[in-house]
Amino acid sequence: MSTNTSSRQVPFVDLKAQYSAIQAEINAAIEQVLHNTDFILGQDVEAFEQEFAAYCEVAYAVGVDSGMSALELALRAYEIGSGDEVITVANTFIATALSITNAGARVVLVDADPITYTLDPAQLEAAITKRTRAIIPVHLYGQPADMDRIMQIAHKHGLIVIEDACQAHGARYKGRRAGSLGHAAAFSFYPGKNLGAYGDGGMVVTNDERVANSIRMLRNYGQREKYHHVVQGYNRRLDTIQAAVLRVKLRYLDQWNDARRQHATRYNVLLSDAPVTLPVVADQAESVWHLFVIGTPQRDSLRKYLIEQGISAGMHYPVPIHLQPAYADLGYKKGDFPVSERSSEELLSLPMYPELTEDMIDYVSEQIHTFMRRNAGLPLNAQGILQG
Ligand SMILES: *Cc1c(COP(=O)(O)O)cnc(C)c1O
Repeated sequence: MSTNTSSRQVPFVDLKAQYSAIQAEINAAIEQVLHNTDFILGQDVEAFEQEFAAYCEVAYAVGVDSGMSALELALRAYEIGSGDEVITVANTFIATALSITNAGARVVLVDADPITYTLDPAQLEAAITKRTRAIIPVHLYGQPADMDRIMQIAHKHGLIVIEDACQAHGARYKGRRAGSLGHAAAFSFYPGKNLGAYGDGGMVVTNDERVANSIRMLRNYGQREKYHHVVQGYNRRLDTIQAAVLRVKLRYLDQWNDARRQHATRYNVLLSDAPVTLPVVADQAESVWHLFVIGTPQRDSLRKYLIEQGISAGMHYPVPIHLQPAYADLGYKKGDFPVSERSSEELLSLPMYPELTEDMIDYVSEQIHTFMRRNAGLPLNAQGILQG
């Protein structure tokens, strides 16, 4: 067990700091919904859908109850399900894979690129079979996957591409917004995301009117008009209060993403001579720095040390999809996806959120240097005492 021996505290995210900066606007927006009492698919949902579609530079946006629902309903709108295979990447959050499983399709994995940690397009063709219907690239840590190469392969094989943009609100690839690059895209508004609600929420964006209409029905009991059910749907609607909150926050998103970018630059400068792997953003990509992720074989002892110094650091993700007990039935084994496996052992996410101060970044960076100097490549034992 780690004990915090420091009086300084650097949390991993700070939702309270963000709320206090916009409290009056948020409270007024929520109060308005309470006055309107249009709690289900109310006017804020429709307004937010239009505003978010415009932000993503696409024609349609459909609000749903989570990012995982957004992925699943997008698959269902393309009639992907039982007997079909969907390819995604082994180092992602479990929801990417679960959306495929919940749609009734089979998860097929490929490894990540060792530099950007996003889906490696070079591995796609070997994973495609005659059952393959779709690819879900993940814009991991805020950086878009290499979409041109992925779309090219998808086009050649007649596959649908659904972007998992749950970590990439506002990111760009060759100047185009994440969410506008595939056939459809899924966003999450989980509170800790770059654009986060005060509860669960999600969105599908697309330029395909048929798909948008299909998801509008699927999220609302499969009905086109009240009590007339065209398909067997769900109750997966975006909550009106959350939409009202998200409308306020969307106005700050670019400013918040700029702050994250500045923090990333500061970390990169301060850690440039530390013996750690720093994040690499591809030339064609603009990251929104959902996470700032460094790499070191001493990840676990560094993380323990940072926690002792009052610094929260995370792991994204400590177990790749193919080694999760829930996916034992896929038949993969250790060694199948070496980049994802090494990522799970070596990657460490440092505190990253707009309200982070320069002081805090300096402190985190300083502590990483201190650890590395003290450690000089020697492993710490369980008590955190230098060995050898
Ligand atoms: C957060 C996230 C999801 C799921 O979003 P929820 O809204 O929590 O369901 C899916 N994929 C990735 C990559 C995510 O980070």
